[in-house]
Amino acid sequence: MKKCPICNHELEKVNNGTLQSKHKTSNGCKDILVENISYTKCDYCKEVFFTPEESQNYEIQLEKALEKERKCEHLLTAKEIKMIRKKYGLTQLQLELLLKIGPKNVAKWETYKSNQSQTIDNLLRRMNDDYCFFLKMLNSVEIKDFQNVITTHSFYLENIFILELILKIYPDVNIKTLSKEFILYVNKVITEILSSKVINQNSQLVLKEAV
Ligand SMILES: [Zn+2]
Repeated sequence: MKKCPICNHELEKVNNGTLQSKHKTSNGCKDILVENISYTKCDYCKEVFFTPEESQNYEIQLEKALEKERKCEHLLTAKEIKMIRKKYGLTQLQLELLLKIGPKNVAKWETYKSNQSQTIDNLLRRMNDDYCFFLKMLNSVEIKDFQNVITTHSFYLENIFILELILKIYPDVNIKTLSKEFILYVNKVITEILSSKVINQNSQLVLKEAV
Protein backbone atom coordinates (compact mmCIF):
# COMPACT_ATOMS: atom_id res chain seq x y z
CA MET A 1 0.00 0.00 0.00
CA LYS A 2 1.25 3.45 -0.92
CA LYS A 3 1.97 5.94 1.84
CA CYS A 4 0.88 9.57 1.97
CA PRO A 5 3.88 11.78 1.03
CA ILE A 6 2.68 14.38 3.52
CA CYS A 7 1.87 12.44 6.73
CA ASN A 8 3.08 8.92 5.85
CA HIS A 9 -0.26 7.25 6.61
CA GLU A 10 -1.74 4.70 4.23
CA LEU A 11 -3.49 5.94 1.12
CA GLU A 12 -6.88 4.74 -0.05
CA LYS A 13 -7.81 4.31 -3.73
CA VAL A 14 -11.22 5.69 -4.77
CA ASN A 15 -12.72 4.61 -8.09
CA ASN A 16 -15.70 6.40 -9.62
CA GLY A 17 -16.15 8.51 -6.54
CA THR A 18 -17.20 12.07 -5.89
CA LEU A 19 -15.36 15.03 -4.44
CA GLN A 20 -16.58 18.27 -2.96
CA SER A 21 -14.28 20.80 -4.60
CA LYS A 22 -13.67 24.46 -4.01
CA HIS A 23 -14.12 26.38 -7.25
CA LYS A 24 -12.77 29.92 -7.40
CA THR A 25 -14.97 32.56 -9.04
CA SER A 26 -14.83 36.33 -9.05
CA ASN A 27 -17.50 36.26 -6.32
CA GLY A 28 -15.33 34.08 -4.08
CA CYS A 29 -15.12 30.31 -3.62
CA LYS A 30 -17.99 27.94 -4.00
CA ASP A 31 -18.40 24.23 -3.34
CA ILE A 32 -18.96 22.03 -6.37
CA LEU A 33 -19.70 18.32 -6.27
CA VAL A 34 -17.57 16.59 -8.91
CA GLU A 35 -18.77 13.09 -9.81
CA ASN A 36 -17.33 10.05 -11.63
CA ILE A 37 -13.73 10.64 -10.67
CA SER A 38 -10.94 8.40 -9.48
CA TYR A 39 -8.24 9.48 -7.06
CA THR A 40 -6.17 8.46 -4.07
CA LYS A 41 -6.90 9.97 -0.69
CA CYS A 42 -5.34 10.11 2.71
CA ASP A 43 -7.97 9.72 5.42
CA TYR A 44 -5.61 11.10 8.02
CA CYS A 45 -4.56 14.47 6.54
CA LYS A 46 -7.44 14.57 4.01
CA GLU A 47 -5.09 15.21 1.08
CA VAL A 48 -6.18 13.99 -2.37
CA PHE A 49 -3.83 12.81 -5.13
CA PHE A 50 -4.38 12.38 -8.89
CA THR A 51 -2.40 10.61 -11.57
CA PRO A 52 -2.07 12.67 -14.79
CA GLU A 53 -4.98 10.71 -16.36
CA GLU A 54 -7.13 11.12 -13.26
CA SER A 55 -6.33 14.81 -13.22
CA GLN A 56 -7.40 15.12 -16.85
CA ASN A 57 -10.66 13.31 -16.12
CA TYR A 58 -11.17 15.51 -13.06
CA GLU A 59 -11.03 18.65 -15.25
CA ILE A 60 -13.62 17.14 -17.63
CA GLN A 61 -15.95 16.12 -14.79
CA LEU A 62 -15.51 19.49 -13.06
CA GLU A 63 -16.62 21.26 -16.24
CA LYS A 64 -19.65 18.93 -16.41
CA ALA A 65 -20.53 19.82 -12.81
CA LEU A 66 -20.20 23.54 -13.54
CA GLU A 67 -22.31 23.11 -16.68
CA LYS A 68 -24.98 21.37 -14.64
CA GLU A 69 -24.95 24.16 -12.08
CA ARG A 70 -25.42 26.83 -14.79
CA LYS A 71 -28.31 24.87 -16.26
CA CYS A 72 -29.95 24.65 -12.82
CA GLU A 73 -29.72 28.43 -12.58
CA HIS A 74 -31.25 28.66 -16.07
CA LEU A 75 -28.10 30.26 -17.43
CA LEU A 76 -26.29 29.53 -20.67
CA THR A 77 -23.31 27.19 -20.32
CA ALA A 78 -19.77 28.25 -21.25
CA LYS A 79 -20.02 26.24 -24.50
CA GLU A 80 -23.32 27.86 -25.42
CA ILE A 81 -21.96 31.37 -24.89
CA LYS A 82 -18.93 30.57 -27.01
CA MET A 83 -21.18 29.08 -29.69
CA ILE A 84 -23.34 32.23 -29.88
CA ARG A 85 -20.22 34.42 -30.02
CA LYS A 86 -18.66 32.33 -32.81
CA LYS A 87 -21.94 32.16 -34.72
CA TYR A 88 -21.70 35.91 -35.30
CA GLY A 89 -17.92 35.91 -35.74
CA LEU A 90 -17.27 37.98 -32.62
CA THR A 91 -14.12 38.07 -30.50
CA GLN A 92 -14.51 38.10 -26.72
CA LEU A 93 -13.72 41.83 -26.69
CA GLN A 94 -16.28 42.55 -29.43
CA LEU A 95 -18.98 40.71 -27.50
CA GLU A 96 -18.10 42.81 -24.44
CA LEU A 97 -18.37 46.02 -26.47
CA LEU A 98 -21.67 44.86 -27.96
CA LEU A 99 -23.09 44.10 -24.51
CA LYS A 100 -21.58 47.35 -23.17
CA ILE A 101 -19.76 45.61 -20.32
CA GLY A 102 -16.18 45.71 -19.03
CA PRO A 103 -13.26 43.72 -20.45
CA LYS A 104 -12.43 40.08 -19.54
CA ASN A 105 -16.03 39.26 -18.58
CA VAL A 106 -16.70 36.97 -21.56
CA ALA A 107 -13.49 35.01 -20.93
CA LYS A 108 -14.65 34.47 -17.33
CA TRP A 109 -18.10 33.21 -18.41
CA GLU A 110 -16.52 30.90 -20.97
CA THR A 111 -14.24 29.32 -18.36
CA TYR A 112 -16.68 29.31 -15.40
CA LYS A 113 -14.60 31.91 -13.53
CA SER A 114 -17.85 33.83 -13.10
CA ASN A 115 -21.49 33.58 -14.12
CA GLN A 116 -23.25 36.06 -16.38
CA SER A 117 -26.16 37.97 -14.86
CA GLN A 118 -29.71 37.01 -15.76
CA THR A 119 -30.04 40.27 -17.74
CA ILE A 120 -26.94 39.49 -19.80
CA ASP A 121 -28.12 35.91 -20.23
CA ASN A 122 -31.44 37.14 -21.64
CA LEU A 123 -29.61 39.48 -24.02
CA LEU A 124 -27.40 36.64 -25.26
CA ARG A 125 -30.38 34.37 -25.82
CA ARG A 126 -32.25 37.06 -27.72
CA MET A 127 -29.17 37.80 -29.77
CA ASN A 128 -28.95 34.11 -30.64
CA ASP A 129 -32.62 33.74 -31.62
CA ASP A 130 -33.21 37.09 -33.28
CA TYR A 131 -30.81 38.02 -36.06
CA CYS A 132 -32.38 41.48 -36.47
CA PHE A 133 -31.81 42.16 -32.78
CA PHE A 134 -28.13 41.33 -33.25
CA LEU A 135 -27.96 43.62 -36.31
CA LYS A 136 -29.49 46.47 -34.31
CA MET A 137 -26.93 45.96 -31.55
CA LEU A 138 -24.24 46.03 -34.23
CA ASN A 139 -25.65 49.32 -35.50
CA SER A 140 -25.02 50.94 -32.13
CA VAL A 141 -21.27 50.26 -31.82
CA GLU A 142 -18.10 52.02 -32.99
CA ILE A 143 -17.46 50.85 -36.55
CA LYS A 144 -13.67 50.77 -36.06
CA ASP A 145 -13.92 48.01 -33.44
CA PHE A 146 -16.16 45.80 -35.61
CA GLN A 147 -14.80 46.15 -39.13
CA ASN A 148 -14.62 42.39 -39.88
CA VAL A 149 -18.01 41.64 -38.33
CA ILE A 150 -19.67 44.51 -40.19
CA THR A 151 -18.18 43.27 -43.46
CA THR A 152 -19.58 39.78 -42.83
CA HIS A 153 -23.08 41.07 -42.06
CA SER A 154 -23.03 44.14 -44.34
CA PHE A 155 -25.74 42.94 -46.72
CA TYR A 156 -28.19 42.30 -43.87
CA LEU A 157 -27.19 45.51 -42.07
CA GLU A 158 -28.00 47.53 -45.20
CA ASN A 159 -31.39 45.84 -45.49
CA ILE A 160 -32.37 45.73 -41.84
CA PHE A 161 -35.48 47.85 -42.43
CA ILE A 162 -36.75 45.35 -44.99
CA LEU A 163 -35.85 42.38 -42.79
CA GLU A 164 -37.88 43.84 -39.94
CA LEU A 165 -40.85 44.33 -42.24
CA ILE A 166 -40.65 40.74 -43.44
CA LEU A 167 -40.45 39.57 -39.81
CA LYS A 168 -43.55 41.58 -38.92
CA ILE A 169 -45.52 39.60 -41.47
CA TYR A 170 -43.75 36.27 -40.96
CA PRO A 171 -42.43 36.27 -37.37
CA ASP A 172 -41.15 32.71 -37.65
CA VAL A 173 -39.12 33.13 -40.81
CA ASN A 174 -35.39 32.53 -40.53
CA ILE A 175 -33.84 35.55 -42.23
CA LYS A 176 -30.70 33.64 -43.12
CA THR A 177 -32.70 31.18 -45.22
CA LEU A 178 -34.08 33.94 -47.46
CA SER A 179 -32.10 34.48 -50.63
CA LYS A 180 -30.37 37.80 -51.10
CA GLU A 181 -32.25 38.22 -54.42
CA PHE A 182 -35.53 37.87 -52.59
CA ILE A 183 -34.58 40.47 -49.96
CA LEU A 184 -33.45 42.88 -52.69
CA TYR A 185 -36.72 42.28 -54.56
CA VAL A 186 -38.83 43.08 -51.46
CA ASN A 187 -36.61 46.11 -50.93
CA LYS A 188 -37.38 47.28 -54.45
CA VAL A 189 -41.14 46.78 -54.00
CA ILE A 190 -41.12 48.65 -50.68
CA THR A 191 -39.09 51.49 -52.16
CA GLU A 192 -41.66 51.76 -54.95
CA ILE A 193 -44.54 51.78 -52.49
CA LEU A 194 -42.87 54.43 -50.38
CA SER A 195 -41.93 56.62 -53.35
CA SER A 196 -45.46 56.45 -54.79
CA LYS A 197 -46.74 57.60 -51.38
CA VAL A 198 -49.58 55.07 -51.41
CA ILE A 199 -49.02 54.26 -47.78
CA ASN A 200 -52.25 53.34 -46.11
CA GLN A 201 -53.70 50.55 -44.05
CA ASN A 202 -53.41 48.31 -47.07
CA SER A 203 -49.67 48.71 -47.50
CA GLN A 204 -49.04 45.63 -45.36
CA LEU A 205 -51.39 43.73 -47.63
CA VAL A 206 -49.51 44.93 -50.68
CA LEU A 207 -46.27 43.83 -49.05
CA LYS A 208 -47.77 40.48 -48.15
CA GLU A 209 -48.67 39.92 -51.79
CA ALA A 210 -45.17 40.88 -52.82
CA VAL A 211 -43.70 38.42 -50.35
ZN1 LIG B 1 -1.74 12.22 4.69
